[in-house]
Amino acid sequence: MNEPVNALRGVGPRMAQRLERLGIRSVQDLLFHLPLRYQDRTRIVPIATLRPGDEGVVEGVVDHTEVLHRGRRMWLVHLSDGSGGLILRFFHFSAAQQKTLVRGTRLRCFGEARMGRAGMELVHPEYRVLQSAHEPVEDCLTPVYPTTEGLHQATLRRLTDEALARVDRLVEYLPPAVLDGAGLPDLATALRTVHRPPPDVAVSRLLEGRHPAQRRLAFEELVAHQLSLGRLRAHTTAHAAPAVCVPGRLLQGLRRALPFALTGAQERVIAEILADMARPHPMLRLVQGDVGSGKTLVAVAACLQAVEAGYQAAVMAPTEILAEQHLRNFRALLAPLGVETAWFSGKQGARARREAAEALAAGTAAVAVGTHALFQGEVSFRDLALVVVDEQHRFGVHQRMALREKGAGEGRLPHQLIMTATPIPRTLAMTAYADLDASIIDELPPGRTPVTTVAVCDSRRDEVVQRIRHALDAGRQAYWVCTLVEESDVLQAQAAEQTRDLLAEALPGAAVGLVHGRMRPREKEAVMARFQAGEVQLLVATTVIEVGVDVPNASLMIIENAERLGLAQLHQLRGRVGRGREASACVLLYHPPLSDTARRRLEALRSSTDGFEMARIDLELRGPGEVLGTRQTGMMQFRIADIVRDQDLLEEVQTAAARLLADHPQQVDPLIQRWLGEAEAYGRIA
Ligand code: ADP
Ligand code: MG
Repeated sequence: MNEPVNALRGVGPRMAQRLERLGIRSVQDLLFHLPLRYQDRTRIVPIATLRPGDEGVVEGVVDHTEVLHRGRRMWLVHLSDGSGGLILRFFHFSAAQQKTLVRGTRLRCFGEARMGRAGMELVHPEYRVLQSAHEPVEDCLTPVYPTTEGLHQATLRRLTDEALARVDRLVEYLPPAVLDGAGLPDLATALRTVHRPPPDVAVSRLLEGRHPAQRRLAFEELVAHQLSLGRLRAHTTAHAAPAVCVPGRLLQGLRRALPFALTGAQERVIAEILADMARPHPMLRLVQGDVGSGKTLVAVAACLQAVEAGYQAAVMAPTEILAEQHLRNFRALLAPLGVETAWFSGKQGARARREAAEALAAGTAAVAVGTHALFQGEVSFRDLALVVVDEQHRFGVHQRMALREKGAGEGRLPHQLIMTATPIPRTLAMTAYADLDASIIDELPPGRTPVTTVAVCDSRRDEVVQRIRHALDAGRQAYWVCTLVEESDVLQAQAAEQTRDLLAEALPGAAVGLVHGRMRPREKEAVMARFQAGEVQLLVATTVIEVGVDVPNASLMIIENAERLGLAQLHQLRGRVGRGREASACVLLYHPPLSDTARRRLEALRSSTDGFEMARIDLELRGPGEVLGTRQTGMMQFRIADIVRDQDLLEEVQTAAARLLADHPQQVDPLIQRWLGEAEAYGRIA
C-alpha cells in the first residue's frame, strides 16, 4: 500500500509530479485524498425549483439562441423544461456549437445556477445533446476531488478507481473493539463509500458529511490528530525542567497584601499549577477562565513561586496594550514583595531595552513582562523557569513549540503556562489544545452583579444618551465604546474624538474623558486614573479598553456599531461592567439592517453572560479557524473531520487514542503518517 503512485497504470513522471503537489506519493495517499464534495447528477431538477447557488442537472429543449455584444461577445441559449426557463451563457463558443444547439434540441446540462439580469442562468455549463427524453442519469454521486493545475477530475477518478481495487490491502489501525463501540464501518468499506457512493446511499447525509462512512474516516483522522499532538507533547515533556519546590513565602505575602481572598477556583488552579511546577519536567498547562475570573493573580502566583526558588519568569502578551496592562498589574503586586519586573516592548528605545536586558541577565529583575520582543536575540535570561503566555489563541501550535525551545538552556525547558482571555468551547479545546493540560477557573469573584444586555437601534441614540444622564446623575460611571471597521488608528482616533465632542455637548456638565490607541501611554494612564478616581464620569474609548480596565463604579456600557464586532470581543468588552454592587447594563447600539449572523450574535449576548456559552455559539457562527485565530487554522485543517459537525465523536476519539497508545503503540506512527504525513509522524518541529 505504500507502493509509489507510479505503480498505477498511466502514471508517468509528469503525472507523479502533479500528484506530488497534492501530497500524493503512494497508493495509500491517493486513497486518503478524499472528495471535497459531491455533485448530485442522479436526478433531474425542474428548472422552476432552481435557486441561486444550486448545483444540479437540468434537462430541457432549446427555445432560441442569440449572440449579444455586451462589452464582450456572448452566446445565450434559452432552455425550457415545462416548469420554467433558463439561460445558458457562453463567453467562448464555436460555430460548430452554434450549429448543434438549435431550436428544438434536447439538452441535459450540469452547472451552478445564478441569478442573472434576465433570470436564472448557468454560465458555461457542462452539457450533452440527448436523442430521447429517457436517457438514464448517473447512478451514484459524483465525487469532486481537491486538485491542482493540469490534473482533471476525470483523471483523479480513474486513478482512485485503480487504487480502490487495492483497498483491501490497507492496514486497519483502529482495533475492532473501538469501531464496534462507536458503531462505525471498517476502513475499506468506508473508503469505497466515500469515493464511490453507491446508488442507495443516504444522499443528504453524505452531502452533509454525516454518513457513517465519513464519520468513520473523520474518527480515524481525529484519532491520528490527537496522537500527533500527544507526540509533540511527549517530545516536550521528555526534557528536564527546573523543579520548583518552595514553601511559598512570597505567595503568602501576596495573599496578605490583597484586599480580598482568592476564590476557590483560583486556589484550585494555583494548586494544579504548583503541583506541575514541582516536577522536574516541563509543565504544559492551559488556564481558561471567563473575563474577570481573575487569571492575572493565578499567573502572578506561579511567577512568585519560580522567583522564590531563585529562578526567573517571563510573561508574554500578544499586543502592546495587553502587555502594558500586565506590566502595571505585575509591578503593583510584585514591587511591595521586593521583586523587580523588567519591561520589553517593540516600541521602547534601544537604551531602555538594553537596561532591561541587563537587569535580566544579571538576575536583578526576576520577572520579565512584554510582547514578542521578549524573545528576541539580545534578551537572555539568567535562569528562566516559567513562561506565561496570555491570550494563547493568537498563537499556533508550532509557535508554541518554538517558544518552548527558545527558553531552553542546558537541555532544560521552562515550565509553560498558557492563559486564554476568552474561553474556548470544550470540544475545540480538546482538539486544538490536546498537547496541554487544562485548568478552568469556573467561578467569578464574589460581589459581581449580572449584567443586563439590550440591543437598541441607533435611531434611538437620544434615549441612550438620556440613560447615561440618569446613570451619571445617580453617581455612577459609564463607558462609550466606539468601533470602526477601518484598521487605521488615525481614523479610529478621529471618530472617537468626534463622539467625545458630541456626547460632551449632549450631556452638559458631565466630565467626559477619552482614550484611544494613538495616545501616549502616559496620557492614557492619566485619563484612566481620573476615571478610576471618579473624576471622569463618562469614558469614551476605542476598543483599547477591551483589556484590563477595572472600575467597579462603572455600571453602564454603550457599544456603538456593536454589529461590527465578534462575539468574543463583545463579551470581553461587556466584562468591564458588572464589577460592582450596582445592577449593570450593556447597551448594544446597532446600525440596521442586521445580517443574520450579527442578529444571532446580539441575541446570544442578550440571552447569556456565560463566556463558555458565548464561545460555543461563536464556534457555530464562525467556525474553528476564526475562533482560534488564523494562525491556528493551519493545524486545524482536516481532510474530512469537522470539529463542529463531529463534536459528538470527540469524547470517543480520546478514548480510542489512549487505547491505541497503550495496546498497539507500534501502530501510532503509521497512523499519524497516513493522515498527517512524515513530518508530523516523528514529532518534528516546523
Ligand atoms: P481576567 O481573568 O479577565 O484576566 P483579572 O485577572 O483581570 O481577570 O481580574 C479581574 C478583576 O478581579 C481584577 O480587578 C482583580 O483584582 C479582581 N479579582 C481577582 N481575583 C479576585 C478575588 N478573588 N476577589 C475579588 N476580586 C478579584
Ligand atoms: Mg486578563
